[in-house]
Amino acid sequence: MADKKSAPVVRRKERLVDKKKEAQVAVKEKAKEDKAKEDKAKEKKPAEVVANGEAAVNGTNGVVADGEAAENGEAKVEPIELPPFEITSGDRMDPFFFKFQFKNVEYSSGRNKTFLCYLMDPGNDGLLMRGYLEDEHASDHVEEAFFKQVLPYYNPKTKYTVTWYMSSSPCAACAVKLVEILKARPTVRLTIFSARLFMWEEPEIQAGLKALTAAGCKLRIMKPLDFTYSWDTFVDNDCDTFTLWEDCQENYEYYQDKLADILQ
Ligand SMILES: [Zn+2]
Repeated sequence: MADKKSAPVVRRKERLVDKKKEAQVAVKEKAKEDKAKEDKAKEKKPAEVVANGEAAVNGTNGVVADGEAAENGEAKVEPIELPPFEITSGDRMDPFFFKFQFKNVEYSSGRNKTFLCYLMDPGNDGLLMRGYLEDEHASDHVEEAFFKQVLPYYNPKTKYTVTWYMSSSPCAACAVKLVEILKARPTVRLTIFSARLFMWEEPEIQAGLKALTAAGCKLRIMKPLDFTYSWDTFVDNDCDTFTLWEDCQENYEYYQDKLADILQ
């Protein structure tokens, strides 16, 4: 049933909240039964994997099993015209996505999205704001989306303290855009904590990170404590406590060294 036509449909379905929840609940329950397999299951299940074709094997059954899949082996699915991918935003993110997307592994295979959790203190202009944004690397990236959706206004008399916890650090294009944005908004104090460094070997990326720092942006790698904090603050965690993965500290040190080298 792994025909090519099924891929867009699966992907479309992944975008439907109900289907997504269903799949996640299933994964969650499975994880409880067999914790040892948990990490591997997560690597295979998310929507990102769906996009590159492995879905046909790993994701299709679970997602299409709501009756629309053909029972006789011939999937009766027509490709659906997809709308442009949008930025998803919300209050607290799904724990499943957090554990997968923020994992600070060295090779971020399958993670072709960026998640941005934010805290913003708009000084005297309002209340502390909290939430998250998610992109699919298709239209705006989350960094720019933040300044369109969360902080589209700017009052030069207000001091904005903005903290982001990102699944990976900005790409070169976003770094350039952010530098422009920050220069135009000198009272925005932005600190970016990243779980992973995105393509840090690339000279363009390194130049972008340096330019960001020069523009006053503070760049940090997420420490184990930052993951726990993010779990508590931005994840629909159902009061579950967060268990750090085994090599979290080690991976943090790895990325921390790389960042220090780049910014020195
Ligand atoms: Zn970007």
